[in-house]
Amino acid sequence: MIEPSRFDNRFIRELPGDPETGNFRRQVTDACYSRVMPTPVRAPRTLAVSAEVAQMLDFTPEFAGSETFARVFGGCELLPGMEPFAMCYGGHQFGHWAGQLGDGRAIILGELMTRHHGRQLLQLKGAGPTPYSRTADGLAVLRSSVREFLCSEAMHHLGVPTTRALSLVTTGEDVVRDMFYSGNPRPEPGAIVCRVAPSFTRFGNFEILAARGDVRLLGALVDYTIATDFPELGPPGTETRLAWLREVARRTAVLMAHWMRVGFVHGVMNTDNMSILGLTIDYGPYGWLEDYNPDWTPNTTDGERRRYRYGTQPQVGMWNLVQLANAIYPLVEDVPSLEAALSVYPETYEQTWRHMLAAKLGLATFDAARDQPLCDALFEVMQLTETDMTLFFRCLADPRVCSTSSADARWAALLPAYYTPERVTADMRARILAWVDSYLSRVEQEGEPAAARQTRMNQVNPLYVLRNYLAQLAIDKAEAGDPGFILELLGTLRSPCQEQPGRAHLAEKRPDWARQRAGCSMLSCSS
Ligand code: AMP
Ligand code: MG
Repeated sequence: MIEPSRFDNRFIRELPGDPETGNFRRQVTDACYSRVMPTPVRAPRTLAVSAEVAQMLDFTPEFAGSETFARVFGGCELLPGMEPFAMCYGGHQFGHWAGQLGDGRAIILGELMTRHHGRQLLQLKGAGPTPYSRTADGLAVLRSSVREFLCSEAMHHLGVPTTRALSLVTTGEDVVRDMFYSGNPRPEPGAIVCRVAPSFTRFGNFEILAARGDVRLLGALVDYTIATDFPELGPPGTETRLAWLREVARRTAVLMAHWMRVGFVHGVMNTDNMSILGLTIDYGPYGWLEDYNPDWTPNTTDGERRRYRYGTQPQVGMWNLVQLANAIYPLVEDVPSLEAALSVYPETYEQTWRHMLAAKLGLATFDAARDQPLCDALFEVMQLTETDMTLFFRCLADPRVCSTSSADARWAALLPAYYTPERVTADMRARILAWVDSYLSRVEQEGEPAAARQTRMNQVNPLYVLRNYLAQLAIDKAEAGDPGFILELLGTLRSPCQEQPGRAHLAEKRPDWARQRAGCSMLSCSS
């Protein structure tokens, strides 16, 4: 068990809290958080635990399998030392200032000082209403909890910065949701995920204080964040605050490049969903690119304007950083310095993205003059016909794609990446193979044996990603009482680049039945 002294609840110790302790919806001013207890549930049952996260938190397998664990992470009981609270933040939603939002269904249980992984905050998502719940119920359904649990862990194993997920606990209670806001509400099983991160602070935590003109508290929160999560940046002061903005911009740029590299579409990049640590946070109507299409968004709530489609994510990252810079303006009062800090973003993004593209293509270096046109042409041929992004990069590392093989052999290697090979015209095929030719002459210049390149490519290009339809299959089974497929996916996605015997069915492109099925290609914010 964890000794109470291992909980160092610094956020609530050092920052001002809401003096009101009743759990009712309200505007909370002059405070960064409100104390609030999770709402106990009828029958907490642990459906899945991430063994790596449990270990990171120094939890024993016995504890992770215990009744106490289910009760704590189902919101029914606290461990000694836990002091639950919900954070106050605001945000720009779909481009518009939305005022106070806050942890409407998230409750931080405590800040655990781990033996080897520093400070880790434990946060329940779906554990009942808080002062920030506005008109909603503070609960989460199994469907969205399975998606958050699996994707957090899948992203981590892909090397993408993310909040982690410790546990998935069902509540034994129903939650009513209208999945597509179409006037068809239905009861669904409720669940709670315990998320884990060194900090859950978002851009919106700073924005709300700036919007209210609370410059004193804004400065306190910035300095707290720097001292707690960015101590290497130096002592409090304007220079350090600018260095902090620069670092947040750098991390956000790196995060965007990672999302683009693996084909992840967040779906709701509002500023309240932007982590100050540059982590992926708030897995809602996210999706994975199947066929490569920069205009795709999984979020039907954003289906019309497609603000948060795959291809615009890097620009939106910058837009969101501008909101953060605006928020801290009163602390710096120097536009050129803020702009200079933000200029790190495009530079870092370009550099990181090129580096990642080179790795995906098996190139040792990226020479912009030569390789940019090659990549531009690649993304063009990937849009000629429905091409699975994940499989394409794996197919490109097939031994048959080499300078000594015939056009037919090369084509056969690429074929698994195409959704409708029968619709590939002779012209399309010729253009794709012409690109492969230019690619092979480029890799030949590196003078490396093809097998070595192929091995390196297969170390960075995943074979297994949390395809939208796979998550939905796991949900269907879990709703029918069988968590087996969640565990199978969790196990497989632990080694996303490594071919695993007996797991070929988890590496297949989206089957045709999933093309238009709700939850597979279309999701909404209802969760
Ligand atoms: P999201 O778009 O999911 O990041 O949510 C935006 C805001 O709505 C956040 O402040 C959430 O805490 C809040 N929210 C979302 N779903 C619920 C819910 N079921 N109950 C209470 N608050 C919610
Ligand atoms: Mg959110």
